[in-house]
Amino acid sequence: MSANMTTDQKALMPEYMKDFKCIGAECEDTCCAGWRVSIDQQTMGMYHKSSHAELSKKFKTEIVLNPVSERTATHYARMNVNPSTGNCSFLTEGMCSIQAALGEDYLSQTCATYPRVVNVVNELQEVSTQLSCPEAARVVLLNPRGIQFYYEDKLTWRNLQFSSKFSTEHTKNQLARAFWDIRVAAIRIMQDRRYHLEHRFMQLAVLADQIQESLDTQKAYSIPQIIESFFDGLDQGSELNEEAAFPVDPQFQLKLTNKILLTILEKKLWHNVRYEECLNDYLAGMQEVNEQNIAQVTQHFNRIKHQFYEPFIKEYAYIFENYIVNYIYATAYPLTNNRSIFENTCYLGIILSLLRTQLIGMSARHGGIRPETVIKLIQSFTKNFEHMQGFRKLVLDICKDERVDALGPLSLVVMTRKP
Ligand code: SF4
Repeated sequence: MSANMTTDQKALMPEYMKDFKCIGAECEDTCCAGWRVSIDQQTMGMYHKSSHAELSKKFKTEIVLNPVSERTATHYARMNVNPSTGNCSFLTEGMCSIQAALGEDYLSQTCATYPRVVNVVNELQEVSTQLSCPEAARVVLLNPRGIQFYYEDKLTWRNLQFSSKFSTEHTKNQLARAFWDIRVAAIRIMQDRRYHLEHRFMQLAVLADQIQESLDTQKAYSIPQIIESFFDGLDQGSELNEEAAFPVDPQFQLKLTNKILLTILEKKLWHNVRYEECLNDYLAGMQEVNEQNIAQVTQHFNRIKHQFYEPFIKEYAYIFENYIVNYIYATAYPLTNNRSIFENTCYLGIILSLLRTQLIGMSARHGGIRPETVIKLIQSFTKNFEHMQGFRKLVLDICKDERVDALGPLSLVVMTRKP
């Protein structure tokens, strides 16, 4: 990934964007299911003026304006949901009736852009895709070569939606000023396959911790040197090359991640049927032993991890690598959600550990792991929690309760030994 470009190359894209195409009626979890779709003001105006025989009537009955206090140019109105299917009212036989009758230009910004994410950084469009779309999840995650990037002409559709726009030049935010260097370093670390995945992640956490310290001590000017020294250290055989430098505690990993999963269950924090199925598979897999004793449950967990997960991950670690790289790129890490770089890194590590625990539990239920199982878990997890207010806070609060708020405890939760 390089910041250099010519003037006609104004969009940065992962190569997987060339392979993505909506599969429409074939889709197993259509984006029109379960979400109330937003309509922007300009598209709403086009619907008002439409003279299409059937749709012009439906535009009047199946779209509601948002309350004045919530109404913005982007989120001006909402599609009604069909009460008998839970899908968007304009979905007919798996196809969008607006797109079929009037063409893509009549889609709202949300519908035209999804599942793409477009961030604008210093005028450069950064295009990626959300993994809540099953087809996008397959294209992004099932690529053994890893995610590569290229420059392309920028997208110029009328109804393109931007997730965020920010400058790394005209800002006093020191983290934003170092955005490009940090993100390039993060992706380089996560794609360095000399180390196993969790080892790479902990190397990234060390770098994030060092950068956090420079910010906390008003020494942000040193971030480029910190990054350079980090890679020099790796090249010269620093202890970060050794997986033994990072402590592991499988029992604590299971305790913390299981606590998060049980909280999700207790609070009924799911609306996606596919994610509910994954939760039930996890429970069934873990309940194969009737033990209440954490040591015996850990023993059962370690046995299925060894039997099913480790052989799988030896071959398919790239799925999780691609998940993390896509997360870093699409969420504009380290600026994700305006939280500190260490907190963002900690959250990502916990999610990695959470997905791993859930997958291991599910593997006992299925008697093994197939790539489609991971795709279903990551896609449905993303769809369920991506826009759920308060989920990130809930995870970080549980971590705080368990004192996972520094590098050492984070390693206990995330790190594994090479299978
Ligand atoms: S979720 Fe993705 S593949 Fe499915 S209908 Fe929506 S855009 Fe198409």
